[in-house]
Amino acid sequence: MGYLRRCMRYPLLKVAQRMDIWSSVDGVRVGALSPDRAMGVRAKVRLMDALKLIRTNSPQRYLRICRDMRSILAIAPRSNRDIYATYTPGLRMCIVNAYMAANDSIAIEELAAVIVHEAAHARLWKRGVRHTRRVLTRIEYVCLKEEIVFLKRLSCTEDLVHAIERKRASLVFG
Ligand SMILES: [Zn+2]
Repeated sequence: MGYLRRCMRYPLLKVAQRMDIWSSVDGVRVGALSPDRAMGVRAKVRLMDALKLIRTNSPQRYLRICRDMRSILAIAPRSNRDIYATYTPGLRMCIVNAYMAANDSIAIEELAAVIVHEAAHARLWKRGVRHTRRVLTRIEYVCLKEEIVFLKRLSCTEDLVHAIERKRASLVFG
C-alpha cells in the first residue's frame, strides 16, 4: 500500500532498525517512530497486545509470524487518513500507521488482523511469490482471506469479518 512506503524510505527504515525504540515479543521486535511520543508509546503497546491476541487465539499462525517477520514498526505518516500498513520484504518489516495503531476506537482484533494480513504478504514473499502488478489483486485476495479466517476464531468480530468480506468481494481482477 503506497503512501507509507513513499513517506518512509528504505534508508530511514534501516536507521530505525538501530534506534533505541524496540521491545521484543517472542523475538519479533515492535517499535514506534512518531513525533508525538505518547502516541508512539500507545501504538507500540497496542501492537504488542495485538501480537499477544494472535498468540492466544491462533498459535500456529503466531509461530509462522515469528518466523517470517523480524519487526513491526509504527510510524506516523503526514496525514492520519492514510492507509493502515505495508510489508517491506528486504527488512522483513511490517510497517503500521501509528495513528491507527494508537487509536483506541479501533479494536485490538482489527489491529491483529492487520498484522495477520501483512504476515500473509511476508509468507507469500518467502515462498517466492513476487508482488508484481499482474498478481497484486490475487495476492490481496489471499491476504484478506487470512484476515477473515483469523477473525472467525475470535468472538464478536462478525461486523469486521463482513467488512473484510465486502472489501474482498469488491476486488477487481485484471
Ligand atoms: Zn495487502
